[in-house]
Amino acid sequence: MKLLAPEPGWTATADVIVVGSGIAGLTTALQARTFGLSVLIVTKSKVDEGSTKWAQGGIAAALGPGDTPDQHLKDTLVAGADLCDAEAVRVLVTEGPEAVRKLIERGAIFDTEDSGEISLTREGGHLRNRILHAGGDATGAEVSRALLAAVHDDPEIEVVEDALVLDALKDASGAVCGVTLHVIGAGSRDGVGRALGKAVVLATGGLGQVFAQTTNPSVSTGDGVALALRAGAKVADVEFIQFHPTVLWLGDNTQGQQPLISEAVRGEGAYLLDDAGDRFMLNEHKLAELAPRDVVAIASMRRMNKTGAHHVWLDVRHLAGFENRFPTIYASCIAHGINPSKDLIPVAPASHYASGGVRVDLNGRTSVSGLYACGETACSGARIAADIAANLTEHSAPVANNSKAILLDPATRRELQLSMSRGAGVLRSSDSLLQTSADLTRIQDRKSANPCVEAWETTNLFQLAEAILKAALIRQETRGSHWREDFPNTENNWRKRIVQELDRNGNWNTSYQEVGGK
Ligand SMILES: Cc1cc2nc3c(=O)[nH]c(=O)nc-3n(C[C@H](O)[C@H](O)[C@H](O)COP(=O)(O)OP(=O)(O)OC[C@H]3O[C@@H](n4cnc5c(N)ncnc54)[C@H](O)[C@@H]3O)c2cc1C
Repeated sequence: MKLLAPEPGWTATADVIVVGSGIAGLTTALQARTFGLSVLIVTKSKVDEGSTKWAQGGIAAALGPGDTPDQHLKDTLVAGADLCDAEAVRVLVTEGPEAVRKLIERGAIFDTEDSGEISLTREGGHLRNRILHAGGDATGAEVSRALLAAVHDDPEIEVVEDALVLDALKDASGAVCGVTLHVIGAGSRDGVGRALGKAVVLATGGLGQVFAQTTNPSVSTGDGVALALRAGAKVADVEFIQFHPTVLWLGDNTQGQQPLISEAVRGEGAYLLDDAGDRFMLNEHKLAELAPRDVVAIASMRRMNKTGAHHVWLDVRHLAGFENRFPTIYASCIAHGINPSKDLIPVAPASHYASGGVRVDLNGRTSVSGLYACGETACSGARIAADIAANLTEHSAPVANNSKAILLDPATRRELQLSMSRGAGVLRSSDSLLQTSADLTRIQDRKSANPCVEAWETTNLFQLAEAILKAALIRQETRGSHWREDFPNTENNWRKRIVQELDRNGNWNTSYQEVGGK
């Protein structure tokens, strides 16, 4: 399959085409340079647009006294509800401290204690303080700043902004050798063109915009996952959407990106209360407000359903120095007429993080040759640059893509998002999922013949919604992330991944992958 789009009118070339300029794309680009590869980063909007700059709380790494990668591994596997790829987690926790040191080497400045040691805080699911932060609650902005400075300092990395990547290009052998993209530019690179590379790395971030309310910025329309599906790559675990429990509630009719109140606020001792002032998490989990995110989100939704409230409350009034420790969150609350030192903060769950994504191996390879994925776009972490460098081939020529073209009416976007929030949110059932599936069937008939950014994005959102719904319906159990009202138990025989693929004609194929080891 492919998006309906004009034929490419121009060509750019580099060894590696990196799609996206968040922490994943920028890190991969810098790593590729250490192997002497030329890099073209193409990014949909301005270079710092993406989830990375919004990350508040911080980065988890076993750096504290007495902490070890093994303990980090144990906490992660518990939070992963038995579906983690243990080997990928082991790589993450073992290589995490070194990755943090690399970030510091590249110029990122993390908060420190008076002693000069890196300051570490707690987040949900972690039994130790192991979250590094910068600028109090502006960790992502600092990481983005430092990586962008390093990228701008390297003349062998070219960055093209306002470049929306559409589809993969393949050579005669079926290997990916580039992408088509639409650039709002000037001169020789305007309109639809193609970027050719020896490898293509998808680092397009999350897909939060599939839902009506999300913490994700507007660029998070899951374009990379949708592209990978159309290119024939496998995706996995897409039904596992993480809903963040404490997103500032601004009313029922809000849409798009909503302000996040970081989990680190609960890490510092904030309470969750219902309308009656009951600290309801005390009876839900031994870690109370610091239970894993899914536990808190599910408990909050159930409490809201029980009382008929549209949100619960976060109480930080007892936290001394809140304004200095969380300056961004404090400012965001004040801007919405809430004074955290005196007022309770209304919060509700909203879609936050795509746990699944493009299926990759530990080297970031997708199931299609030449195509890699990393960051939130992928379903697990990966080391990519070394693999690309070790397997470098010559550039190959793309062949025509004669597969079925698809484009939906962009006016369907809001309907799609509302339906997904209603039917495939924190609390789900086969009834709610089937109702949303019926909405999608209607939306599918509203085609468009006018290629434009809004239509391409809406089509991507639609294809992702389809994948999420199909997998969510198949998984007849409750396992982290969300609650199946009709299947409340975690079932041993569901300890497996749901892997999905799209064929050339738009038919879905589903297979299963057993999850090994603990
Ligand atoms: C509000 C918020 C707070 C968070 N807090 C934390 C935290 O405290 N700790 C933590 O570990 N994580 C946190 N996260 C999650 C974390 O920020 C993201 O998972 C991470 O930044 C993703 O990085 P990425 O590089 O994969 O994607 P992103 O940073 O989202 O970057 C994606 C890039 O791809 C580009 N792109 C998208 N589509 C296309 C296309 N079609 N063509 C070209 N370019 C495209 C985008 O413009 C962007 O440049 C938070 C997320 C949010 C939204």
